[in-house]
Amino acid sequence: MQALAILHASQLITLAGPKRPRAGGEMSDLSIIRDGGILIRDSRIDRVDSSDEIERRAGTAQIVNAGGRVILPGFVDAHAHPVFAGNRLDDFERRARGETYEQIAAAGGGIWSTVEKTRAASDSDLLAQAKKHAAWFLRCGTTTVEAKSGYGLTLSDELKSLRVIRRLNEETPIEFVPTFLGAHTPPRGMGADDYVDLVISKMLPQVASEKLAEFCDVFCEGGYFDIKQSKMILTAAKKLGLKLRIHADQLSNSGGARLAADLNATTADHLEKTNGEGIAAMKSAGVQPVLLPGSVYALGSTAYPRARDMIDAGLAVVIASDFNPGSSPTPCMPMVLSLACTQMKMSPAEAVTAATINAAYSLNRGNKIGSLEAGKIANFSIFDCEDYREIAYWFGFPQTRSVYVKGERVTGA
Ligand SMILES: [Zn+2]
Repeated sequence: MQALAILHASQLITLAGPKRPRAGGEMSDLSIIRDGGILIRDSRIDRVDSSDEIERRAGTAQIVNAGGRVILPGFVDAHAHPVFAGNRLDDFERRARGETYEQIAAAGGGIWSTVEKTRAASDSDLLAQAKKHAAWFLRCGTTTVEAKSGYGLTLSDELKSLRVIRRLNEETPIEFVPTFLGAHTPPRGMGADDYVDLVISKMLPQVASEKLAEFCDVFCEGGYFDIKQSKMILTAAKKLGLKLRIHADQLSNSGGARLAADLNATTADHLEKTNGEGIAAMKSAGVQPVLLPGSVYALGSTAYPRARDMIDAGLAVVIASDFNPGSSPTPCMPMVLSLACTQMKMSPAEAVTAATINAAYSLNRGNKIGSLEAGKIANFSIFDCEDYREIAYWFGFPQTRSVYVKGERVTGA
């Protein structure tokens, strides 16, 4: 592959820094190079420097002029549910009319409707729809996506979703990081305890032996999987070598953040209802909070998680899309940055850090992606703006001009 030299970024947002997640005040330091450039060889970053210096070293490299635009590392979306069939348009309209979650479920909506459609879909239909979602992620500048199963809820249907994720990895430019979320909700017609048994005795061993997932996740909440059931599943997953993520404290402060700390989970996600005690527990155990403002927004709620308190407590905060058909139908990280700034009072710099380097560490990939530094994979986007803060400021449309994965342009001009 021919070397590539990118010149004249108004701001090259490198996020160069210590080789670990950025906590507290470190989240404000983006290591910006003005009029910056990148030299890329063999799909990796060879050097980041001033545009002049990169041009001097370019040799026979193909030159791309960024034309005074902003360059950012590819977004790393650390919480998403991209494999499902159909949509939830009827739920969306009912919610707009003021119907409650219970009314919507009684009318045949809710998560169960997505489970039924996903079970009924063929492998190829499920893959085709997921590829459409992958194209949306790319268009918004996202080059790595965590992908959860969880709309199958039988052994064969969970395996079907995880195999679709494996094929997405092979057949799209995005790197998908697979997470087994068999414990998304207890299936209809089965008690939660019986289902926990099935997850532990049948699903987890099969997922682990086929190496279909790197992480295990549980929806820990009253009415779904309580603390004890969540702990059983995650402990079994850990023994099989999986790392842990938890849907915690979304609807109530049920102790999910503390459980994440007790089990040394990599992340605790959602945290809308987490209090100071939960924040302290995550801090002492080194758990990274993954905040999902898109779902708060799309559900018409105003109960955003306490991002400011988490950053001030020294946590390495991550923000993600929670892309899913029910509560967060957006793959758009720039929109998530906007929500982080306007609703959670994060600064634009903190939001960028949370969506790149911190997210990369939360997926166990901080040594390969998430910043623009020599040796890392050349995943980055050129945005149609001069100042990185514009990415969070102008909202509702992606300003991505072109997106590069492994040093190759995969979308845009
Ligand atoms: Zn989720």
